[in-house]
Amino acid sequence: MATGFYFHPDCLQHDNGQWHPECPARLQAIEDQLIASRIDALIEREEAPLAEEAELARVHTQAHIDYIKSRTPEHGRSELDPDTSMCPQSYRAALRAAGAAIAATDAVIEGRYENAFCSVRPPGHHAEPARAMGFCLFKMGFCLFNNVAIAARHALEVHGLQRVAIVDFDVHHGNGTEAAFSGDSRVLMCSFFQHPFYPFSGADNHASNMVNVPLPARTKGMQVREVVDMMWLPRLEAFKPQMIFVSAGFDAHREDDMANMGLVEDDYAWITEQQVRRVAKRHAQGRTVSCLEGGYNLSALGRSVVAHLRLAEI
Ligand SMILES: [Zn+2]
Repeated sequence: MATGFYFHPDCLQHDNGQWHPECPARLQAIEDQLIASRIDALIEREEAPLAEEAELARVHTQAHIDYIKSRTPEHGRSELDPDTSMCPQSYRAALRAAGAAIAATDAVIEGRYENAFCSVRPPGHHAEPARAMGFCLFKMGFCLFNNVAIAARHALEVHGLQRVAIVDFDVHHGNGTEAAFSGDSRVLMCSFFQHPFYPFSGADNHASNMVNVPLPARTKGMQVREVVDMMWLPRLEAFKPQMIFVSAGFDAHREDDMANMGLVEDDYAWITEQQVRRVAKRHAQGRTVSCLEGGYNLSALGRSVVAHLRLAEI
């Protein structure tokens, strides 16, 4: 069965400003690698729809949604924090990103695809349910709405699933996802992340449904595999998720300057195959939806996404 590949040109319109690492060229780099690797033939392209506000509101407060909407500038850019800004097209791009995750979830649960990848931006895992309500100290980390969290809630509340797992292998802690699901026994979140590092959360006092593994800078792939094998797999197997969502950030790659970890494409392939796909096949009829999070070295990002997608075929 083909992999559903969700994208929309609106996601190229979101502009954080010149030289910003979270740039439209990221999605173009993925596209280039899909074609160069000939994996293009194994995916089926789908146009991401716009998410509806009620769908965002399964995770975010109305105040957060209104705030993001109200910060949409007529011209130029508005700064939400030192790292995150909006241009006139950003809100629409964010609706496409969340809409992709929801549509991919529908398609996978309905059996049209076994798995799907959302090649979208802005990313989502730093977006907390209500974080934007406050003052300038709040950091959004390039994210507006939490795409994976919205899709997971959609699976639980619209499709009636009872257990979903979220695997987050972005180099940064998914503080938004943790805030959305901490203590929610229907969700198991497994992540590793560089620590101490932005957003400086996730290492302490987490709820029992959070398997957060902080790792020091310069951690390499073999160590990550060991951690993932020892700490994620037993929890995932015991949880028996009915579907797995992946916050697929590729900024732990050794060529990515955003952080300082040493993963390579083979590590992403291994995590996908040995962890995500195996558990999904065993417990969840293979159902997997991945959403792009970070990954800022364009070449490494493209190659890593291909490694992630290629193994998704197995
Ligand atoms: Zn990241």
